Amino acid sequence: MIPKPDSHQEMREALRALCAEFPAEYHRKHDAAASYPVEFIDALTKAGWLAAMIPEDYGGSGLGLTEASVVMEEINRSGGNAGHCHGQMYNMSTLLKHGSKAQKDLYLPRIASGDLRLQSMAVTEPTTGTDTTKLKTTAVRKGDRYVVNGQKVWISRVQHSDLMILLARTTPLAEVKRKSEGLSVFLVNLRDAIGNGMTVTPIRNMVNHETNELFFDNLEIPAENLVGEEGKGFRYILDGLNAERTLIAAECIGDGYWFIDKVSSYTRERIVFDRPIGQNQGVQFPIARAYVNVEAANLMRFEAARKFDAGEDCGAEANMAKLLAADASWEAANACIQFHGGFGFAAEYDVERKFRETRLYQVAPISTNLILSYVAEHILGLPRSF
Ligand SMILES: Cc1cc2nc3c(=O)[nH]c(=O)nc-3n(C[C@H](O)[C@H](O)[C@H](O)COP(=O)(O)OP(=O)(O)OC[C@H]3O[C@@H](n4cnc5c(N)ncnc54)[C@H](O)[C@@H]3O)c2cc1C
Repeated sequence: MIPKPDSHQEMREALRALCAEFPAEYHRKHDAAASYPVEFIDALTKAGWLAAMIPEDYGGSGLGLTEASVVMEEINRSGGNAGHCHGQMYNMSTLLKHGSKAQKDLYLPRIASGDLRLQSMAVTEPTTGTDTTKLKTTAVRKGDRYVVNGQKVWISRVQHSDLMILLARTTPLAEVKRKSEGLSVFLVNLRDAIGNGMTVTPIRNMVNHETNELFFDNLEIPAENLVGEEGKGFRYILDGLNAERTLIAAECIGDGYWFIDKVSSYTRERIVFDRPIGQNQGVQFPIARAYVNVEAANLMRFEAARKFDAGEDCGAEANMAKLLAADASWEAANACIQFHGGFGFAAEYDVERKFRETRLYQVAPISTNLILSYVAEHILGLPRSF
């Protein structure tokens, strides 16, 4: 497919050159071994891509969410999986927007240089799931520390991060006027925490996505690691979630283009009944429809990123971009596996790996149903359903 000119072409070319050093066999090998692609993530870090959103004063590139989303898209478009590193981008936006000057001075230059990684965010809990404000992990102030108790699940990249953003309840639910109040965000130094009140148990899962169950048993966090004001953490996390949804939309767009390129070239070449299978409209139309939907989702992704970068409320666009892009990449994935016939199931074609990877985004970081209920309630003014 001929790449369309856009204002990020130079950046895309540099990313494509880097990603080309890590071909399909590299990602396939890590998928089979369920191992973390350390060399790939190190190369992205060294080239400065994972510090894209850190201001220049702190040693980063000072780019916006738009550019960060191009980094994620290109990783997935190359056949890789940005799920190994996207945490750094959206966690960064929480620290940048709500961290104190002291926190930014302490952490940002070291994150920009690659000495520290901010890859993890701990929100989800096993018993409360999507009902975030009911989460049960507590952080109780004791002098100059907070003491944390509770449990989290599906917390990714903990083994490849130095810092983690943690959402915990600091005021009991029964004592707040609104359930979104009384939650606070902390920066947890993982090197200090693991083995000293925090236990990490990996969860083997369908994709090669390093993710874990966490247990907190009187974990102590210095009070200066509170991000922003105590009790306002839910709002800070929501800001970060809009960045996360936009970035993941871009990853799905990258996946969508990968599937369409792959299936287009395969169906042009594969001869069955004495002609290329791509000559049949029954084959062409699902691929063409998926392409149309990826292109449309891409427009919404850029609109969400533009609004985020302009400091405007982008909740609606970020949610819609995530839904449209996740659906489009899943549609493209289905066309791709279908028209590869049996070969779609062979690991060496990479289709089944990417198929598994893109399926995640129907559920995480927010399910399609919850986006639809957000649109119904917050945009269309329909009654709240839960
Ligand atoms: C590989 C992986 C990595 C992850 N990484 C992280 C991470 O790093 N940090 C983190 O905090 N979390 C992480 N998550 C968690 C992820 O965000 C949650 O799985 C997701 O938000 C869904 O929550 P849940 O699993 O508790 O599902 P539940 O809340 O139990 O919901 C299950 C399903 O029920 C449906 N549903 C629920 N409520 C409603 C409703 N009101 N209306 C209609 N349908 C509804 C939805 O379809 C939903 O998919 C990860 C998950 C996975 C699988």
